[in-house]
Amino acid sequence: MQLNIHKYIPVSEVEGPGKRFVLWVQGCSIQCENCFVPHTWNVKEGNMISIDELYKIIMSYSNELEGITVFGGEPFDQHLALYQLIKKLKENTNLSVMIFSGYTYEHLKRRVAITNQQLLDLCDIFVDGPYIEKLHDLSRPWVGSSNQRYFFFTDRYKDLAKEMKIENKLTITIQNTGEVVVNGLAHKDTIAYLEGLISDY
Ligand code: SF4
Repeated sequence: MQLNIHKYIPVSEVEGPGKRFVLWVQGCSIQCENCFVPHTWNVKEGNMISIDELYKIIMSYSNELEGITVFGGEPFDQHLALYQLIKKLKENTNLSVMIFSGYTYEHLKRRVAITNQQLLDLCDIFVDGPYIEKLHDLSRPWVGSSNQRYFFFTDRYKDLAKEMKIENKLTITIQNTGEVVVNGLAHKDTIAYLEGLISDY
């Protein structure tokens, strides 16, 4: 079984609680207007990677990690492969799981394929709903519009469930290759400004 991925960051502190392996899958069937990451939509792009290989990569960083966060693209467009990866991680590690979906919780619960529900059942935190530009709101952590909801399916983050005292942040990383990677959440204009500054050097 393989997963089509856009990219991953082995250890990030700006996409969920604590230090997390952050995975962006490739392909999104929802295609929200003015999505922040339209380059993740095309299913013909991305990189196919086996679940076993991806699992080994995550495990090689597991000592540094609190959990894994999965973004899209749309993670539930690949629910079967993603379920296999997350199930293996849950069975063999104490990593917490946070998954974002542009579909609503109610929509996913109605889906026929059982791996949609099984994948939801493995989440400590699940965030639902599409990005809606007219509801743009960066006041809450990790989400871009006010319709998006957090679901806490386990007690692991019960303090966070009561009160979200986390600010959105960006991380800028200059890799050995010279490539600059910006991740986290900020207004598009802020990201464009930073990219402009970086490209001047
Ligand atoms: S679901 Fe996510 S990746 Fe897909 S279009 Fe909406 S915001 Fe973009």
